[in-house]
Amino acid sequence: MHDLVIVGCGPVGAVAANLAGQAGLSAVVIERADNVFDLPRAIHFDAHIMRILQQAGVASDVLADTRVWKRSTFYGADGKPIRVHDWADDRTYGWDAHYLFYQPALERVLRTRLEQLGGIELRLGTEAIDIVQHDEHVTVTTRNVATGGTDELTARFVVACDGASSFLRAHSKIALIDSDFDEPWLVIDLLTERELGRPNESEMFCDPNRPATRVPGPGTHNRWEFMLLPGETAAQMQRPESIEALLRPWVRMDEVEILRASVYRFHALVAERWRDGRLFLAGDAAHQTPPFLGQCKCHGIRDVQNLLWQIAAVLRGAPMNRLLDSYEAERRPHVVRIIDMAVAAGRDICVLDPAAAAERDARIRRAAASGVLAPTTFQGMPSLRGGLFDSDTAGELFPQPLVRTSTGLELMMDDAIGSDIAVVAVPEALIRWSDITDDPSVPVVATGTGAGIELVTVSAETAKWLAERDATMAILRPDRYVHALARDDDVGALALRELCALIPRG
Ligand SMILES: Cc1cc2nc3c(=O)[nH]c(=O)nc-3n(C[C@H](O)[C@H](O)[C@H](O)COP(=O)(O)OP(=O)(O)OC[C@H]3O[C@@H](n4cnc5c(N)ncnc54)[C@H](O)[C@@H]3O)c2cc1C
Repeated sequence: MHDLVIVGCGPVGAVAANLAGQAGLSAVVIERADNVFDLPRAIHFDAHIMRILQQAGVASDVLADTRVWKRSTFYGADGKPIRVHDWADDRTYGWDAHYLFYQPALERVLRTRLEQLGGIELRLGTEAIDIVQHDEHVTVTTRNVATGGTDELTARFVVACDGASSFLRAHSKIALIDSDFDEPWLVIDLLTERELGRPNESEMFCDPNRPATRVPGPGTHNRWEFMLLPGETAAQMQRPESIEALLRPWVRMDEVEILRASVYRFHALVAERWRDGRLFLAGDAAHQTPPFLGQCKCHGIRDVQNLLWQIAAVLRGAPMNRLLDSYEAERRPHVVRIIDMAVAAGRDICVLDPAAAAERDARIRRAAASGVLAPTTFQGMPSLRGGLFDSDTAGELFPQPLVRTSTGLELMMDDAIGSDIAVVAVPEALIRWSDITDDPSVPVVATGTGAGIELVTVSAETAKWLAERDATMAILRPDRYVHALARDDDVGALALRELCALIPRG
């Protein structure tokens, strides 16, 4: 019996499989298609996703095929900037704040890495056609797409990463809740040798005559998205002459290779339940987000990071329902909050009435002048709430500083402490630490020198981060979210004891 069957090897299934391999689980990944889907879909991910890819051991390979996204300028109905978002200096999580990437390249890196990991089998050209749940395990029936031959797999858990039209979601009779946002946009991907704008910047044209966006991908890849106006059809917009007319302000057709020009409907949907016994929905199978904040696939990768460390802990003896019910309890409100932001951004961008657009522009300019975030903007990553987090101070993603080892080596914090529970504390809080901690093997990072501790942060920002939260120490879960903040080392030791009791360490 396997620990896991992962159905679907899109980006979310592939990250799930890599994290399973890193955690030493045995898994079979089944994927209907023979090859990676060869057209770009998602184009953006953020620093948190790069941090998860770092945990999966693929960050440096992924990095090679990305472009750092530093700035985004929004233009109003008058063609002038209404807001500039600039993240160029933000390295809070150890990586640049935002990256532009080519989805087929990312998926290939993830699959190559899978081949190197023991314990993970990828079956291509194979689809899930049935699932039966038992008390202690699940049976998944698969069919070879080419031969029609069937097989049965047994596993302790199944993760459905089978995309927006998930067979497993439908099989479990889980409905999708619709947020009533449905806008058709033409998405054009092309290659061109010419750099078409400032290299690390995107542009959003909030033009009531035709809302549109331009995003430079890595290398020679560029993406445009154009909203369809009332009465326009997909067939009409996908014609070469329509594409040429839309792109004329930027490029000539003789200097580009069009990869794809297709109309997509941007919508907002969330599955009513994410768990059915031993089956868990993740990624597009669980939710779909309009792409205005580029978070759709990011959600999915956060889902499987949350789920995988918890499944690994359950397989080591942690209480199954307490942990695995926390997956949806923690992830769902986070996803819904970001979907709400993306819908608000979309509604603000998709304004077609000139008077309403002028009013919006004036509002965004006023907000920009007073430093307030406009709805078009990502309002900041929400903390996780509920699930295993039982206080308001818990649930924030902890930064990733550089740390120095006692031998003088400088490493990113997550590389230094691995996927373990960890403690980050000011040196004063650690003076009595060896007397009060039950488990001296838990990695401890001190925020300043002189503590006699193995790992010390190089960045002064970490001490500041704790001080701003009136804390002297943070107890971190394996996914680097804060389990507890404490001012007092006894309280910190107690929180650590509780976490270690809940999660058997690997
Ligand atoms: C034009 C466009 C732009 C986008 N922009 C962004 C963006 O900027 N940022 C972002 O984060 N997201 C974006 N997205 C969304 C992003 O592409 C998806 O969220 C992401 O691909 C979902 O990944 P997934 O692994 O959940 O699903 P998918 O990528 O759909 O993968 C599902 C896989 O499951 C397989 N499968 C299905 N059924 C079965 C079965 N029964 N048995 C076996 N295998 C099966 C499929 O073959 C497929 O390979 C965009 C999407 C589009 C279309």
